Amino acid sequence: MNILPDFRTLRPATLDEAVKAMAAEGTMALGGGTDLLPNLRRGLGTPQTLVDLTAIAGFAELTVQADGSLRLGAGVTLEDLAEDKAVRAGWPALAQAAEYVAGPTHRASATLGGNLCQDTRCVFYNQSEWWRSGNNFCLKYQGDKCHVVVKSDRCYATYHGDVAPALMVLGAVAEIVGPKGRRSVPLAEMFREVGDKHLTLESGEVLAAVTVPPADGWRAAYFKVRVRDAIDFPLAGVAVALKRDGDTLSGLRVAITGTNSAPLMIPTEAVVGKVWSEENAEALVQAVRKVSNVLKTTVMGVKYRRRVLLAVARRLVDDLWTGK
Ligand SMILES: Cc1cc2nc3c(=O)[nH]c(=O)nc-3n(C[C@H](O)[C@H](O)[C@H](O)COP(=O)(O)OP(=O)(O)OC[C@H]3O[C@@H](n4cnc5c(N)ncnc54)[C@H](O)[C@@H]3O)c2cc1C
Repeated sequence: MNILPDFRTLRPATLDEAVKAMAAEGTMALGGGTDLLPNLRRGLGTPQTLVDLTAIAGFAELTVQADGSLRLGAGVTLEDLAEDKAVRAGWPALAQAAEYVAGPTHRASATLGGNLCQDTRCVFYNQSEWWRSGNNFCLKYQGDKCHVVVKSDRCYATYHGDVAPALMVLGAVAEIVGPKGRRSVPLAEMFREVGDKHLTLESGEVLAAVTVPPADGWRAAYFKVRVRDAIDFPLAGVAVALKRDGDTLSGLRVAITGTNSAPLMIPTEAVVGKVWSEENAEALVQAVRKVSNVLKTTVMGVKYRRRVLLAVARRLVDDLWTGK
């Protein structure tokens, strides 16, 4: 039956209160609920308490700081992120990634924190309890077998968030608050490539904010391929940030999503410091191919997803190099 399980909701007014509330067992953070609540309705989780973070003072603040960096409270909605003039002017790839998420009604309540911390997805997981029970469930939840990589002892559910790769290539830092205090890590370190434990947040920790440095000559873009342009998760998504110095590619950062259990950075050392040539484009494509691990976790064919991933990576760098 698709009904929500019983839970209580707390609505703390400060981050300290939220951290205290998160300490209890069986507690989950709640942002806009656009990822969590559909999952709970499908029987994917039975939390006793949801801690709604959206009433925390300052949690939804979006500020361009004195040093030119952008500070985003984890409660900033994706609609605000996509539409904010300063973000669109200074960090257009970030606004673009936010605008690509789901549909307009989702973005009006979906938060940055919820987007980054969203659950991983799989055709064997995002199903009703009835459907999953027919397969004896799966390694990610309630079962002991991965149906995607049958002999594996790890879960391969895929991370499909759009905003993380854009923030990663922009050099974003995550500010995490929990029972042991406050810590900051490069955003990429908030993820690990394990489908049923893809966040490195410790028990009781929440993402409080993200800081993005000034663009400082980097140009960036994000693009995703999806079944329905109006509303859909990325089948494959790529973010690129590039610095060009005359005929030299002086900096290149590439991150991918929709392919692995975490958003991942691609090693680019082999092509940086050179001219962007056919040979280097092929070297980048091979690097993306090596890191990506497209598996049968969505209904769309693996070969197609891999091909568009490689093509989009190449095209974004081509476009940014020529200044498109
Ligand atoms: C039809 C549909 C289409 C979608 N399409 C896309 C898409 O194209 N791209 C995409 O990226 N997403 C998509 N989503 C997923 C989801 O809507 C978005 O990712 C959204 O941004 C989630 O934000 P939220 O605030 O609603 O998260 P919530 O549902 O509130 O939370 C999601 C998860 O993050 C945790 N969480 C929330 N806030 C915090 C925090 N501050 N610290 C720690 N943990 C936290 C929650 O406990 C939960 O596990 C789609 C969803 C639907 C239903």
